[in-house]
Amino acid sequence: LERQLRQAQKMEALGRMAGGVAHDFNNLLTIINSWAELLMDEPGLTSRAQRGMAQIRDAGNKATGLTRQLLAFTRHQIVERQPLNLNDRVSDIVELMKRVIGEDIQLVLKLDPTLGRIKADAGQIEQVVMNLVVNARDAMPHGGRLELETGEVTVTHSDPFWSDPLIPGPYVTLAVRDTGCGMSVETLGHLFEPFFTTKELGKGTGLGLSTVYGIVRQSGGTVGITSELGKGTTFTIYLPRIAEDSEALRPPATTKPAGER
Ligand code: ADP
Repeated sequence: LERQLRQAQKMEALGRMAGGVAHDFNNLLTIINSWAELLMDEPGLTSRAQRGMAQIRDAGNKATGLTRQLLAFTRHQIVERQPLNLNDRVSDIVELMKRVIGEDIQLVLKLDPTLGRIKADAGQIEQVVMNLVVNARDAMPHGGRLELETGEVTVTHSDPFWSDPLIPGPYVTLAVRDTGCGMSVETLGHLFEPFFTTKELGKGTGLGLSTVYGIVRQSGGTVGITSELGKGTTFTIYLPRIAEDSEALRPPATTKPAGER
């Protein structure tokens, strides 16, 4: 618990600082980018100067992308938790996911038709799914298979879900499974830390998974991981299922998916 508190405080402080820095940087970058763009068309420029300008512009655009991500991470969004069906949220962004993963990655959906509802913010849930999908894509540069599977499990007192205390009861799950590079033990140990990234400069911010973790924890759930180097990775999010009036009509779900801890 203490570790979590420390993590939460760290996140908040970092978030506030990063937000301020990103905001100022964004303004400065606008000046750099617009001048680079303008000066590229300046008559009489040597080709060396032109190439230099193009590099300034490209680097500027990359930096702008990074500050945008930072701002999105720290912006205080209005969170509106409502009963929603995870299948619907996933189905809603299928086209977006396909565009993001490209043609070399096969998308497979296994949506449990009897899935119960969760109480969450639709925008946040989509952000969680997209962050996991983007990571899966980055883990499969030569293509592969991306599987999204929804289901339900019942968490009991004895289930050690990381160090996160989960209230025992029914949970809705979403597993995001890739056939990518997998992760080393070293990487696994730092995964949820803000700004931890193994991606090259300009590609990753290291904020994707800490955002995922923050949102899922705020919604009373947790995130599970199984990963094997060279084989692939599965991220599973667990979110409390809400009790419905028609509860008595639904068969109880008690099984845990194989391979989960
Ligand atoms: P970013 O994607 O910007 O690097 P994240 O917090 O989303 O930041 O991820 C942190 C790191 O975790 C990544 O840099 C990568 O090393 C590792 N990672 C995340 N998802 C996967 C995955 N599906 N397969 C392999 N490694 C992953």
